[in-house]
Amino acid sequence: MVTGQYRPSCPLAGGHEGAGIVIARGELVDDDVCKIGEAVGVTWLNGSCLACDFCQQAGEPLCLKPTLSGYSVDGTFQQYCMGKTMGLQAIAIDSGDEKKMREDMGATSFIHFAKTKNINEDVRKATRDGIGPHAAILVGVNEKPFQQAAEYDRPRGCVVVIGLRSSL
Ligand SMILES: [Zn+2]
Repeated sequence: MVTGQYRPSCPLAGGHEGAGIVIARGELVDDDVCKIGEAVGVTWLNGSCLACDFCQQAGEPLCLKPTLSGYSVDGTFQQYCMGKTMGLQAIAIDSGDEKKMREDMGATSFIHFAKTKNINEDVRKATRDGIGPHAAILVGVNEKPFQQAAEYDRPRGCVVVIGLRSSL
């Protein structure tokens, strides 16, 4: 914007990322996708053409005709904003308090890693289509969860590493 390379449509509410609470939803959205009162985030990518090579190959962030929050459509610096639900599920894998993970952290499922007989099977079962999550975010520093994530993620899933051991 300073150099003039990026010229947002005006007038426009800025805000390229944001978070809030769901107060209403469309008639096609049910509790499995998004609940009233649920904490949600708004992404920079508001929409894509869904027709270009990038979109057809699950590369929507690379779309050449995107709509972008706070740039080409109103962003999150407004009291209320509308977004498309992605229906993300958060599966907590931990040894902690299931109630806290669900109520305080927003997890839709909880798997106690020390009590499960087959973590890969349980994680896949927790996803809507049963083929595993799109991504795993690892915050622990033990090696085993890294191996497990590579096994339970769906094909083309990704592993986001937040915590790292010094030996990795
Ligand atoms: Zn596209």
